[in-house]
Amino acid sequence: MKTKAYINGKWVGNGKTFAVLDPFSGKQIARVSDLGKADAVKGIEAAHKAFPKWAAMPAIERSAKLVRMADLMEKRADQLTKLLTLEQGKPLTEAKGEILLGVHALKWLAEEGCRVHGYTQCDPDLNRSSLSLRQPMGVVSAITPWNFPSYVPLKSLAALAAGCTLVLKPAEDTPLSALALADLSEEVDIPPGVFNVIPCKHPKEVGEVLATHPLVSKITFTGSTEVGKHLLKLGASGVKKTTLELGGNCPLIIFEDADLEKAIQGALTLKFWNCGQCCNGINRFLVHTSICDAFIKKCVQKVKKMTCGSGFEPVDLGPLIHEKAKKKVDSLVREAVAHGAQEVFSSPQKGRLCAPIVLENCTPKMRISREEIFGPVVAIYRFRTEAEAISMANDTHYGLAAYFYSENLNRCLRVAKALEAGTVGVNTTGVYSITLPFGGWKESGIGREAGIVESLNDYCELKAISFGL
Ligand code: NAD
Repeated sequence: MKTKAYINGKWVGNGKTFAVLDPFSGKQIARVSDLGKADAVKGIEAAHKAFPKWAAMPAIERSAKLVRMADLMEKRADQLTKLLTLEQGKPLTEAKGEILLGVHALKWLAEEGCRVHGYTQCDPDLNRSSLSLRQPMGVVSAITPWNFPSYVPLKSLAALAAGCTLVLKPAEDTPLSALALADLSEEVDIPPGVFNVIPCKHPKEVGEVLATHPLVSKITFTGSTEVGKHLLKLGASGVKKTTLELGGNCPLIIFEDADLEKAIQGALTLKFWNCGQCCNGINRFLVHTSICDAFIKKCVQKVKKMTCGSGFEPVDLGPLIHEKAKKKVDSLVREAVAHGAQEVFSSPQKGRLCAPIVLENCTPKMRISREEIFGPVVAIYRFRTEAEAISMANDTHYGLAAYFYSENLNRCLRVAKALEAGTVGVNTTGVYSITLPFGGWKESGIGREAGIVESLNDYCELKAISFGL
């Protein structure tokens, strides 16, 4: 397990460390280097120095290194899976899924790195010939969250595939999986300075350096809308290109003509993934009033059988990441119940675990309908008409993802167009793919990560070149 920072190809510390805790037991699992402003500057300077050579390397050579890194990751999948469960708490099967998703994504991004191109077109001026080029931007700062501590940092390696260099600050709760990526990068000879990882306990100061340093060309941030707005303001002083992957308040609509079994299966799988701690997880279940009682009955039957415990046991749900997360879930549920919601299912809550809760008769006025729950709570709202469902679904300042179930093709097309979200799942909740653009409308973000065009283009500057003939 690597616990020091990785800067300029070396494992370094500054004498200060912070504790990383097992979310299940609350016990310390490691002490990790706690870097400060000066170390962040060193990381940026190393990335700046490494940039010209990395950018000038033929794309196919860069790509080959990243593919080797992905191969090594696949070989070490079991070890990386355990590390991920240890620091984040999710069940081993989910953790393995995250690692293998990363392997596939890294291979795909590496291959896309060979296909970054501009275009030529007929110039209206016959005395001129023109073309456009995409060139890597330079140093990229990445700041990532704790809910997917391997996959989200890995996604930012798209910067490397595009020819940029990277300084990554992982979340303070889960820095170990990101450091494990740096370890893999060292083993496959990604040159010093190309990929730097700088963990720290208190992100404010390091974050400010990453967002404002003159040598940084781009910021990519995945995390809460609140912190994203703060970084956007900081970056504005240097007109930094910024990609923001932020919070969500995703609705799922189940229409009266849905295949109810299919809908429940899809809904509950996503709802309880990562113990409900997914940005594109379902926050609001909007169910047509004519099938709502049947939905609740079937939902409770399934939820009753779910098990919670250590991610190292064969359970459905691991712990929430920390006490603060648990308190937030408790307070949202209490507030909803105080305003008229009914708890149709809950079981005794033990320690750091948060067992599933099903609430019905929720209304848009409750806090639970406005804020990300980030926990295993099924909050159910009733609707009567399609127009009402669409209006309820869109009644939020977030717009990350939305889902619905209906067997009526015309309705599917109509509703898919009407929902205000970057991703829409029609009769499915399994929507994520590295090949599809992922990002949010409204306050859920700016820009896209993943996607055939977007994944690498957002790490490139576009240049128009004109030749006088
Ligand atoms: P967070 O915003 O608290 O933290 C995210 C990262 O920002 C961490 O690395 C943290 O250390 C850092 N950070 C916090 N304050 C900072 C500051 N002042 N300056 C610089 N950096 C700072 O979010 P979180 O609790 O780690 O993650 C959960 C949030 O992330 C949820 O809102 C979730 O929806 C969102 N998320 C979004 C996506 C997406 O793709 N849209 C993916 C995963 C998570």
